[in-house]
Order: sequence, then C-alpha cells, then structure tokens
Amino acid sequence: ELGYINGRFVGLDELVLPIDERGHQFGDGVYEVIRFYDGKPFMLEEHLERLIRSAKAIKLPVKESLADFTELIISAVEKSEIKNCNVYLQITRGIATRNHLFPDAPVSITMTVRHANPIPNEKREKGVDAITHPDERWANCYIKSLNLLPNILAKQTAFEQGCHEAILIKDGYITEGTSSNVYIVQGGEIITTPLTNQILPGITRMAVKKLASELNIPFVEKHFTTAELMEADEIFITSTTAEVLAIVKVDGNIIGSGTPGEVVTRLHQQFQKMVEAL
Ligand code: PLP
Repeated sequence: ELGYINGRFVGLDELVLPIDERGHQFGDGVYEVIRFYDGKPFMLEEHLERLIRSAKAIKLPVKESLADFTELIISAVEKSEIKNCNVYLQITRGIATRNHLFPDAPVSITMTVRHANPIPNEKREKGVDAITHPDERWANCYIKSLNLLPNILAKQTAFEQGCHEAILIKDGYITEGTSSNVYIVQGGEIITTPLTNQILPGITRMAVKKLASELNIPFVEKHFTTAELMEADEIFITSTTAEVLAIVKVDGNIIGSGTPGEVVTRLHQQFQKMVEAL
C-alpha cells in the first residue's frame, strides 16, 4: 500500500501531516474515493470533475488540471502494484499557523492507495439493514468536503444497532445515506432524490442512471417520504465502495420480501458487466 504527499511517494506510515494542517484543524478541504478494478479506474474523469467542482466551491486554489490528477493517480496505482484498490485523494488549504482566514500557503495534496475491501457476496446476496436518522448536515452537501461529523455519528448509531447504513431524513424526505445515495423501487420504477445542494451527486448514481436506461427501467428523480421508503417494493443504496447494495430492513421493518429484489439484482449484474468492460 502506498502514500503520496505533495510530490513524493511514501510508505503509508510516513504519510504524516503537521498539526497546523488545515485539514486537521478546520476540515478545510475536499476529497475523492476512486475504485480501480483489475488495474482500471471506474469513471475516473467523473470523479475528478467532481473533485475540481468541490475545490472551486470552497475556493481552494488548485493549480493541477484534470489531466494532471489523472496522471498522478494512474502513476500511483501503477507504483502500488495493487490492481484492485481504492484511491483516497485529499486536497486541503495547506499548512499554516492556526487562523480562520485563508492562509498564504500552497494547497496540500495527499493520497493513499489501498487494497479494495469489497462487500462479501454472502452479505450482498442477503442484503443489509438500515436505520433512519435525522439529516443534521449543512446546506452544501453537494461538496465532497472533509467535514463528516454528522455522517460518522449517524453511521456509528446505525452500526450500534447492527445496521450497515443510516438513511438521512430532512423535513420528512429522504436525502441520502451517510456515505451512499438512496433509491426505492415502486411499481417497477426506480425513484431517487433529485440532485440539489442537499446531496452528493454520486458517481455510482450517475452509472446507475445509465444502467437503468440500458435495462429499460424508469429512473425517476423526485423527493420521497419516510412512509414511501417503508412501503417500497425494494430499497437500495449506491457508492463507490458498496456498488449497488440492497437494503432489506429499515428500523426493523422488513422491506418487500426481505431479500434483494429483482431490480437491484439486475442493476448489480449490469454494473458488473460495466466493470468487466472497463
Ligand atoms: N453520498 C455521500 C454522503 C457519500 O459520502 C458518498 C460516497 O462516499 C455517496 C453519496 C456516493 O458517492 P459515489 O457513488 O460517488 O461514491
């Protein structure tokens, strides 16, 4: 496994940032997680477009272009010799004596390349459980920022109840998961929260929209309530690391048949075909 810090490849244990790094003190940065399958990146360009958008949104003066980041990431993965890996890339406002105001410092770019830890087939075939939880995050969740405190608190609450994910609720409507986008299937249609400032525009969501169209399954982007969630035929989540994953129980209520439904199963098969064709 490999680390990278401002122009240098290092061992993970040497990837150390000083206390005056603004990522530590303010969460003042953005990040991406990109999956490589058998040495090939999954939707790298889309991830980097989102990274650059996130950086712009918080006024991070990033000099590197999309092409520069592409080269950097590809060379890191080659160097790591890990064919199935997750790349974590983080950009912060750099290192400077603690002060809320923007420093006159170069941005800090760090990266790790680690072995992917895919969801075991057994778990995927059974589906996972979730809780609902108030969405206590800020107004700009479209930015993939380092500030994840509400996300980790909700995820930990889910874990303590034996659940895989917390589905976040704002004003009675589902926004997304703590680290995933959320979908219901009702009457043969996939329904998911529209892209607003309140959710992250998932790259896997983008893939699923295309896969649904290939399978002729309607993909409807509209708000849905907790009641609609509970009464859905199927529920699933998507993320770079979980891919397309069925939720079979929410707050102890069994969803549909209590096993992964037809739509999520077909979507994940189609997802795997997309991966094989990379
Ligand atoms: N929503 C949130 C809050 C996330 O943190 C993530 C990813 O970690 C997602 C959605 C899914 O995004 P992606 O499919 O790009 O991994």
